[in-house]
Amino acid sequence: MSARSLIAKIDAFQVAWDINDPPGRRTAFVRVTTADGLVGYGEASPMMGGEHSLGVIRDFAESLIGADVMDQAVLQDRLLHKYVKLGPEGAVTGALAALDIALWDIKGKYFDQPIYKLLGGAWRTEIPFYASIGGNAARTLDETVRVVEARWKAEKPAAIKIRWDGDRTRQDYDIPGDIAKARAVRKLVGGDFPLAFDANNQYSVGGAIRVGRALEELGYLWFEEPVQHYNVRAMGEVAQRLDITVSAAEQSYTLQAVVDMINAGVRMVQPDIVKMGGITGLMQCAAICHAHGVELVPHQTQPLIGHAANLHVLATIMHLTKPAEFADPSTRMHVACANPLKPEEGKFIVPSGPGLGLSIIDNELDRRRV
Ligand code: CA
Repeated sequence: MSARSLIAKIDAFQVAWDINDPPGRRTAFVRVTTADGLVGYGEASPMMGGEHSLGVIRDFAESLIGADVMDQAVLQDRLLHKYVKLGPEGAVTGALAALDIALWDIKGKYFDQPIYKLLGGAWRTEIPFYASIGGNAARTLDETVRVVEARWKAEKPAAIKIRWDGDRTRQDYDIPGDIAKARAVRKLVGGDFPLAFDANNQYSVGGAIRVGRALEELGYLWFEEPVQHYNVRAMGEVAQRLDITVSAAEQSYTLQAVVDMINAGVRMVQPDIVKMGGITGLMQCAAICHAHGVELVPHQTQPLIGHAANLHVLATIMHLTKPAEFADPSTRMHVACANPLKPEEGKFIVPSGPGLGLSIIDNELDRRRV
């Protein structure tokens, strides 16, 4: 064991990129430093600004001083089981994901290799992305088409997903309007362009079947989270009754919950690297999906550290069937990175430097910490 890989300091903090950012638009980062000064960066789920996950990290930080970053999988399981009665879904698994990503970043720097090499190598280092366009429940049909058109033309994505992000306390409240928007977007991009529809959990089983049949007619590629994520059997029923691929599991926080979704009948799962398990967890999900013949298409909304971590894992997946999610085209985080990830002709290049391959600028981060 070398002192180079022993944890000396863990700093967990929230970043407000703009002084006026509400908590929900802030970012939750962790910075881990080893005894010899290697530094790794991780990110937790940004729900409510990630503050709850940051609190968990601060709580367990002291117990990790002196631990070896090479033991990242053991550390993660030990902490998950120690904190299991706090959840474990959400804040705790977001904290563990952030820590795991930071430890992998250090491992890469220790061995002077990009993370994808340490994971077994890349099938590809250019990853096509899809533009993930949210908030369409609140838009008119014309507004929806205008917003989609702007990102379609600006980013040249390999595919587009339109998300609803509607009121989760109501169901089936505008099915004809939803189908009309799906039809208008299909008309905009033409018959062959890959499209996906994300219901964000807004339908009943019957409502989902009705919308799913319309999406099949319109040639949509997948139908995401048609019903409430916690109604696992209902999600599986919709998946099995429709011909269109139904996807779910962005709100699954453990390997066991992902398996439950697969056992219910879902054949495309979307665990998120900053919500469950980090790089270690997503690689374990990849093995589960490979064994079950299920598509792994991770959910991912964060443009800097979460995005880079996700790309490293996607590089290693043999059967990568769909593009990577690109939800936030804002460049507000670029100020804190000398080599930020930028879309290039519908693709992202996986960083090839050691660890995550990102050159983070600490004083820009520290200036913006809350
Ligand atoms: Ca989604």
